[in-house]
Amino acid sequence: MKALVFSEFPEMAAQMVTYLKKLGEVDAATFSAKAEALSHYGAGKAYALNGQPQFDNVSAWLADTYKAGGYDYMFIASTILGREVAGAASQSLDAGIISEITEFQPGQGNVHTKRYFLGGKTVLEEESDSKVFTFAPGIVDAERVDSASPITPADLKPSSVTVVSVEEKQSSGVNLEKAKVIVSIGRGVGKKENIAQVEPLVKAVNGELAGSRPVCLDYQWLSDERQVGISGKKVRPNLYIAVGISGQIQHIAGMRGSKVVIAFNKDKSAPIFDESDYGIVGDIFQIIPKLVQALGA
Ligand SMILES: Cc1cc2nc3c(=O)[nH]c(=O)nc-3n(C[C@H](O)[C@H](O)[C@H](O)COP(=O)(O)OP(=O)(O)OC[C@H]3O[C@@H](n4cnc5c(N)ncnc54)[C@H](O)[C@@H]3O)c2cc1C
Repeated sequence: MKALVFSEFPEMAAQMVTYLKKLGEVDAATFSAKAEALSHYGAGKAYALNGQPQFDNVSAWLADTYKAGGYDYMFIASTILGREVAGAASQSLDAGIISEITEFQPGQGNVHTKRYFLGGKTVLEEESDSKVFTFAPGIVDAERVDSASPITPADLKPSSVTVVSVEEKQSSGVNLEKAKVIVSIGRGVGKKENIAQVEPLVKAVNGELAGSRPVCLDYQWLSDERQVGISGKKVRPNLYIAVGISGQIQHIAGMRGSKVVIAFNKDKSAPIFDESDYGIVGDIFQIIPKLVQALGA
């Protein structure tokens, strides 16, 4: 198997290289300023893309290189840009695409893939003749190797996209990756107004407030930069307090590195308890005031 990998984030390209090099030959591409960082993970080549990247010229470069290089498969990290270029590249190649895979196994002609389905409640296993795949971020930890891949510069064609204006996204400046204590809320909080009842606990433990994907993305009770999980931030605090979070695998993938985990959930069979060092089965709105009082805050 010969695979071409791309991500604008070298760490995500490195994760894919680590995963795929066990299955065959892998070349990886990223933007030129980051190519050196990508060259330490065992890729055959690290392509360094020069030029003004847009989805059209990156996808065109990927499709052209795929054809010219005799690659069997193309893997792109599932980011905003990655999803755009994957769609356009598969269209140019007239090849099938499967999004957000978590596992890949080449077979005789067809490939076997796994991805989450029905909002992550189940895993879908598929056999297909697809050639282009987006990989869910964080599938494996990237493993550095001693040798360095040769860096191969490549020029992107001029883009037909004109950028009219760029607006900076409003950011609260929170850095969950560096937080020592995180209080993370889930759908169990019920509604945005109820976050005020969790805040005294955040203050009492001197923590940062975070949330599950429904809280940050679907309902937008918190900003997306506070989302923990496979498609959010990967955090490793000394203490992670999960408040009304069920503990689905996509959430756990983001907080498994926490040193101590405490969970509050009214459902004693919630999977979060399997990941917790301490747990309280009960209503968060009864637990939190008592805990805050006990902490003397
Ligand atoms: C491709 C993909 C990527 C994803 N990425 C992420 C990700 O990065 N992060 C993420 O979090 N999810 C992610 N998800 C979604 C994930 O599968 C779950 O749907 C999500 O984590 C569930 O969030 P939750 O625990 O807040 O909600 P729920 O699963 O609805 O859980 C709510 C919990 O609150 C409890 N509860 C309710 N009321 C109370 C109360 N009063 N007191 C105590 N407990 C109470 C319930 O018992 C329940 O266990 C992803 C899904 C997919 C398909």
